[in-house]
Amino acid sequence: MSESKGASPGASRAIVIGAGLGGLASAMRLGAKGYAVTVIDRLDRPGGRGSSITQGGHRFDLGPTIVTVPQGLRDLWAACGRDFDRDITLRPMDPFYEIRWQDGSTFTMRGDDAAMEAEVARLSPGDLEGYRKFLRDAETRYWFGYEDLGRRPMHKLWDLVKVLPKFAWLRADRSVHAHAAGRMRDPRLRFAFSFHPLFIGGDPFRVTSMYALVSHLERAFGVHYAMGGVQAIAQAMAQVIRDQGGVLKMGAEVDEITVDRGRASGVTLKGGERLDADVVVSNADAGHTYTRLLRHQTRRRWTDARLKRTRWSMGLYVWYFGTHGTRDMWRDVGHHSIVVGPRYREHIKDIFIRGKLADDMSLYVHRPSVTDPSVAPTGGDTFYVLSPVPHLGHDNGVDWAAQAEPYRQKMLTMLEERLLPGLSAHVSESLVFTPETFRDRYLSPLGAGFSIEPRILQSAWFRPHNVSEELPGLYLAGAGTHPGAGVPGVIGTAEVLARLVPDAAVPRAHLRMAAE
Ligand SMILES: Cc1cc2nc3c(=O)[nH]c(=O)nc-3n(C[C@H](O)[C@H](O)[C@H](O)COP(=O)(O)OP(=O)(O)OC[C@H]3O[C@@H](n4cnc5c(N)ncnc54)[C@H](O)[C@@H]3O)c2cc1C
Repeated sequence: MSESKGASPGASRAIVIGAGLGGLASAMRLGAKGYAVTVIDRLDRPGGRGSSITQGGHRFDLGPTIVTVPQGLRDLWAACGRDFDRDITLRPMDPFYEIRWQDGSTFTMRGDDAAMEAEVARLSPGDLEGYRKFLRDAETRYWFGYEDLGRRPMHKLWDLVKVLPKFAWLRADRSVHAHAAGRMRDPRLRFAFSFHPLFIGGDPFRVTSMYALVSHLERAFGVHYAMGGVQAIAQAMAQVIRDQGGVLKMGAEVDEITVDRGRASGVTLKGGERLDADVVVSNADAGHTYTRLLRHQTRRRWTDARLKRTRWSMGLYVWYFGTHGTRDMWRDVGHHSIVVGPRYREHIKDIFIRGKLADDMSLYVHRPSVTDPSVAPTGGDTFYVLSPVPHLGHDNGVDWAAQAEPYRQKMLTMLEERLLPGLSAHVSESLVFTPETFRDRYLSPLGAGFSIEPRILQSAWFRPHNVSEELPGLYLAGAGTHPGAGVPGVIGTAEVLARLVPDAAVPRAHLRMAAE
């Protein structure tokens, strides 16, 4: 599928490799700067991890389900002279999600302060004061980590050096879990306020405590669901790009970034077609960009060896399934649930450090049909269940050809016992993604779910820069770049990138028209 509107002759041309949310946001921002933009993606629809597959009348949102910080999307639309809320309906979630432990205890996360304090006090009255302090810490980290560092370029070492004292003061060297544990004693509360890095591919026991800011994001701006799924956001982004005169070339894979006189000059597609551009943006994974798309270029920083030493986020096992005749069942199961397994620290170690597929699992369960019945045929439900698993780069890695089905069976048993009794009799559609699917579908190195892990020495200046260190004229957006993964993160990568790309040259004809 390929669409064309044609740009004004003479306008500076930009090619964006990848129609993930970071690539689409970059294309919108470059379109607003006057570039004639072509977005190229190997998939059949825009959105990357944020796209969907419809099977047997069930629409499976493949990746992001939780939209936080909608202001980031509103700012992006506004930069293009558009109104986000005219294109997308966001439904605030209340509650945000429910966490269920093996001993039967639960915790309901909400936006309302009094309700949250009552929840904390219900589990552990002695932790109320520590919880309040944790929220204050989270807010401080939000202002520094999200609003300041996260919204500006971090490609100059001096930018990093300037903020080091603040990092030290905020104890950025400590992990999110260590920080939560320093404020609250109850292990369930420590879990509830430290697991969030998993949503962006980080190990809660090793990722910097700056990520405690997520607790503030949720509380301040809410947790939302985009009607139509995140796919609807991606489609609306594609429409803005087309309205700007941009082109989306889907079903086409970039084989190489071309170089002319030391600058990025365009791309070659698999099949040999060559497209020229003044500016190239890669939203393909930063690892793929450097090791594959720039394979013929001598690289100083992001060499193959360096990328091999990089710590990658965990992989994901996702079971998407549709059910029939269940709309009146499981009435206590809402839109988002987290079903916690018996172990936390050791389980995380199995995933990130030992690279071992554990017998136990902790699950995130998405049931969008609660909010948006159109995702399933009448009377049915649409679900996905996600389990963090090791990526493909560990020694003695998981043999997914052999393990995928037994793992799904184990998941089914856990779901029947802990959340959805009688489930197996109602499953009508089924689709499984393993880390191998992530590798093959998104060209994600090691099948990682969220690109480079957001450890402190792999964040900000240490992450692949939004303006390439290797090649003038090349820019990078998406989860593997600054500020990082997650919908707000990758939308942020495009905001930073747009500050670094020069304004488009205005075609002479336009200058004449403006003068007349
Ligand atoms: C299961 C799951 C659940 C998630 N849940 C949430 C959530 O609830 N909230 C949240 O905020 N975030 C969530 N995330 C994270 C978030 O979805 C991602 O961080 C974000 O969508 C990644 O966007 P990206 O711009 O990096 O691009 P990607 O989505 O990685 O897209 C990159 C695109 O580039 C294309 N591409 C790559 N190489 C080439 C090539 N050579 N030629 C052509 N095209 C190429 C790929 O086909 C792909 O479409 C989730 C992620 C997953 C996987």
